[in-house]
Amino acid sequence: MTQAQASADRISAALARIAPSQTTAMTDRATAMRAEGRDIVSLSVGEPDFATPAHVVEAVKDALDQGATKYTPVGGTAAMKRAAALHFTRDLGIAATPADVTVSAGGKQAIFHALLATIDPGDEVLIPAPWWVSYPEIARFAGANVVPLPTTAADGFRISAEQLANAITPATRWLLLNSPGNPTGAVYTADDLRALADVLDRHARIMVMSDDIYAPLRYGDTPHATLAALRPDLADRILTVSGVSKSHAMTGFRIGVATGPGWLIRAMERLQSHSSGNPCSISQAGAVAAFEGPQDFLSDWRAIFRARRDRVVEAINAIPGLSTPVPDGAFYCFVDAAPLIGEGCEDDNALALHMLEHGVAVVAASAFGGAHCGIQGFRVSFAADDDSLTEALTRMERAVAAL
Ligand code: GLU
Repeated sequence: MTQAQASADRISAALARIAPSQTTAMTDRATAMRAEGRDIVSLSVGEPDFATPAHVVEAVKDALDQGATKYTPVGGTAAMKRAAALHFTRDLGIAATPADVTVSAGGKQAIFHALLATIDPGDEVLIPAPWWVSYPEIARFAGANVVPLPTTAADGFRISAEQLANAITPATRWLLLNSPGNPTGAVYTADDLRALADVLDRHARIMVMSDDIYAPLRYGDTPHATLAALRPDLADRILTVSGVSKSHAMTGFRIGVATGPGWLIRAMERLQSHSSGNPCSISQAGAVAAFEGPQDFLSDWRAIFRARRDRVVEAINAIPGLSTPVPDGAFYCFVDAAPLIGEGCEDDNALALHMLEHGVAVVAASAFGGAHCGIQGFRVSFAADDDSLTEALTRMERAVAAL
């Protein structure tokens, strides 16, 4: 859309640059179809099917009973900031203090505020592709030029230091990293990250956003690696984002946490003071309980996700025309369906709609920048119960057979 068309429609040029989130759009569509009585299994959104832990729910009830229903400080209560600092230190190895953290309405909002607070028109943001749907849209909304860094399944969907070095220009402002990654499950090792840091050493102007929201969901033996923990000397250029949505099945609470240099945290809070204000008071009470309470259930959840992953990968690879590598983390399979494109579906959006007609909701690979990597297909979330997965896989097979 041109700027003139945008203004004719009374839409700002900034909004005209971005598309709606296709993960949430597909999920809303599946929900609406169900409300109309259609039988849809949704593997479109990344949302654990487990119940939120009981101790979190109890903490929320207590907070309500104690009247925690009013404004809190914009960046979170003192208790919430202490709990977030505990999480960064204990779980990610980043020496954070309450003063270095901020709390927002989901990790998405933290990323939104960080980019909006720091990007000027023409700045470049480097994003490894495939990427999570909202990264490029947020960057573009902020006025940046998005520079995709394509990856392949053969490289474990990880960028190399050389690739990073070659992509950097004087306009580069941010590198966005996500490990374990959505939508591919890519996991960067400590050595991978150290090599990227060596490149960053030569470019002091570049900031890094490390999205670690899936850190507890790794299926290999290697410990979680994150840049700010490996290279504390670079910490004044790194924003690490995390939360409770995926780890504690608290997606609806909308609590994201971030830690980084003081100037950036204050800038994000300045913006937040005019956007949403404080994150939900009651949700903060739940998130405090999540971070401070027992964490042992996570290993059980991880084992369940791992079993589902193995099952889903095997079933998908058995369907002619579909293939997926084994994801090392998170709870998505990024499925290549190239042989099916042109066979009744002109692109992967059409394929996703075809799947929906057969009662299973998935998100087209193009929403995740698949085209930059030569991948046409779709993302499947395996954060669904076993019966739903069984039914979804059967429908997927039927949908492919019907092409
Ligand atoms: N991050 C999840 C996903 O990719 C939740 C939906 C969203 O915010 O995109 O499915």
